[in-house]
Amino acid sequence: MAPHGRCYCGAIEWTITGKIDTTGNCHCTDCQRISGSAYGLTSFLVSGAEGVEFKGTPKIIQGKSDAGKSTQRFVLLPSPAPTNESAELR
Ligand SMILES: [Zn+2]
Repeated sequence: MAPHGRCYCGAIEWTITGKIDTTGNCHCTDCQRISGSAYGLTSFLVSGAEGVEFKGTPKIIQGKSDAGKSTQRFVLLPSPAPTNESAELR
């Protein structure tokens, strides 16, 4: 079964159709900013971005990794990852 997921509100769904080379925790500055934490969970695909199918249209942000390699990040607007949340404690 192909890895599949969706954003919190369900506006965008994704399915990985390409071969995953590596999955791990990336501690680069961009992953820290996007995840709002010390690292981001990242999968590197052999086929690159062509190995992901979307239902909905994510925003694509072109960039460079800390190692100087080209990157494409798919931001799942209109429901970006929360940077803060509150919950009733009792
Ligand atoms: Zn990173």
